[in-house]
Amino acid sequence: MDKLDHVLEHIDSKGINRRDFIKLTTLVTSVLGLAPAMIPKVAQAMTAKERPTVIWLHFAECTGCSEAFIRSSYPWIDELVLEVLNVAYHETIMAPAGHAAEKSLHEAMERYKGKYILVCEGGIPTADGGVWGKVAGRPMIEIAKEAAKGAVAVMAMGTCACYGGVQAAKPNPTKAMGVGEALGIQTINLAGCPPNPVNAVSAVVQFLLLGRTPALDDYGRPKFAYGATIHDKCPRRAHFEEAEFVKRFGDEGAINGWCLFEMGCKGPDTHNNCSLVKFNDGTNWPVGAGHPCLGCSEPQFWDNMAPFYTSKP
Ligand code: SF4
Ligand code: SF4
Repeated sequence: MDKLDHVLEHIDSKGINRRDFIKLTTLVTSVLGLAPAMIPKVAQAMTAKERPTVIWLHFAECTGCSEAFIRSSYPWIDELVLEVLNVAYHETIMAPAGHAAEKSLHEAMERYKGKYILVCEGGIPTADGGVWGKVAGRPMIEIAKEAAKGAVAVMAMGTCACYGGVQAAKPNPTKAMGVGEALGIQTINLAGCPPNPVNAVSAVVQFLLLGRTPALDDYGRPKFAYGATIHDKCPRRAHFEEAEFVKRFGDEGAINGWCLFEMGCKGPDTHNNCSLVKFNDGTNWPVGAGHPCLGCSEPQFWDNMAPFYTSKP
C-alpha cells in the first residue's frame, strides 16, 4: 500500500469525502508550486497525527476573514478542523463565552506553549495605550503580546492584521496597525480582504513540510501566493497589451471581457494569486466577474489604491 492509499484509508475512517480531500490536496500542492509527485507528502502533512494547534484571536476587524475561511467550500471546515488543524481557541466557532472563554484561552496558551500557531485577525489600535480596542477589559495589544510569546509562529490573517486595514485608513484616530508592526515581530502576512482560505491552508502545510516560516516578500507575505502581480497572471492581459479597455460597466468591451484598467483596476500594482486559486470553490474571481481589482492585498490599500474606480494617472 503506498503512502497516499494509507492517508486515504485514514480519511475514509473519519467519514470525510475522499474526492473533496484529494481536490484540496491537489490544489494546495499546486498553490505551493510543488510537483504532482509531492501530493502524497502534502496529504501526509495534512493528516499527520500531531496536528498543529491554532489559537485564533480577533482584534479590530469585521470577522470577514473568519467568515471566508469557515464558509469556503474548498478547504471544507470539517477537514480543516478535524484533519489539518487542532483549533484550540476561536471565538466565532467555539462554544464557551465570557469568563469560560477567557479560561479556555489561557488553558490553551499554557497547554500548547511553544507549539501553537497564533492566528490574528484584525488590526491593533495602539493610541493611548490601546484603550480603543479591548477584549475582556484588556487592551488588544496586551493580549496579542502575551499570546505571541508562546507561539511557534504568528500568522496575520487578512489585510487588517497584516497592515491595519480599514481601521488604519487616514486619519486613523486609534493608530491602528498590523500585528507585526504593533508587536515589533515578523508575522506571516496572509494579506487580502479577505485572504483566500486556500492560501491560509497552504501556508500551514508549507510550515509543516518545512518546519519553518515560508519564504516571505518585503511585506511579510508568503512568496508562493504573493510572488506575482494580478496583472502578470490576468486572463485579460492580452487586451491590455492591445489597448482594448472597458470604458463603462456593461459596454461592448465589458461584454467581450476586455481589460479593466480604465475602470480603475489596480492589478498592475497588486500581488496575489486570485486568478489561479479563485474563490467560491474555484468558480470565479473579481476580475473574472468583470470587476476591477481594488488592490486589497497591498499595505494601506484603502489610502494608496483610492479612488477605486479611476485609473491612476
Ligand atoms: S484587468 Fe487589471 S489585472 Fe487584468 S490585464 Fe487589465 S489591468 Fe491588468
Ligand atoms: S482581485 Fe484584487 S481586490 Fe480582488 S481579491 Fe484579488 S487582490 Fe483583492
